[in-house]
Amino acid sequence: MTAVINATHLSRTFPGNPPIHALRDATLRVEPGEKLAIYGPSGAGKSTLLNLLGLLDAPTSGSYTVLGEETASMPARTKDHLRSQAIGFVFQQFHILGHRTTRENIDLKLSIARTPTTTRTRLIDEALDKVGLTHRTHSHARNLSGGEKQRLAIARAIVNKPQIVLADEPTGNLDARNTDLILTLLDDFSAAGIAIVVITHSDRTAAWSHRNVYIDDGVLTNTPPRS
Ligand code: ADP
Ligand code: MG
Repeated sequence: MTAVINATHLSRTFPGNPPIHALRDATLRVEPGEKLAIYGPSGAGKSTLLNLLGLLDAPTSGSYTVLGEETASMPARTKDHLRSQAIGFVFQQFHILGHRTTRENIDLKLSIARTPTTTRTRLIDEALDKVGLTHRTHSHARNLSGGEKQRLAIARAIVNKPQIVLADEPTGNLDARNTDLILTLLDDFSAAGIAIVVITHSDRTAAWSHRNVYIDDGVLTNTPPRS
């Protein structure tokens, strides 16, 4: 099986005096449908890694293939296209526009991905149905509860059927009940073959995943430290 994510010896150094080695020689493979949790202390390099995996940033060295395509020498436009087609993002702070409706928030994403207008309505309806927000289609996003906002962000992440969902502490602002709702949704996507990579501080999410990797001081390992 082809890995959806195949990162080999990835490093990211931020220039400065001294330079910051945010990620050091990280190697990571993620298969279709796999649920991977990344955890580690604050400042460890988790978001740096997720930004590289999401093609939002480029490594200082190392190789990164998405769906079998090497991204190192990929032109920016090709990379943008790959990102908008293959990858959905979910963040702790939801990143949705409060003064826009639920439907408009998702439509914006499809517009960026240049999805034909004719198919947008159907895709948005399907996504809202999957996350249980059909009854909120025309609500302003600012009027949604925290759990509903995150479900909207998830609908937006999966609306154009990506192969990968990357989530940076997606349940960090939610209570236990809403955390479980979000994890159940992510389970459905995993069962449909979407690879899910989640950064988390929560034991609940770590227990939910198929596999955990630990990161500290930019170093990725499969073994957590003894506490
Ligand atoms: P985490 O998400 O695990 O809390 P980050 O990946 O955000 O950690 O940060 C890892 C290290 O890289 C930190 O020391 C942080 O200050 C540094 N860092 C992150 N982004 C930048 C940047 N754009 N410029 C300089 N340093 C950065
Ligand atoms: Mg972070």
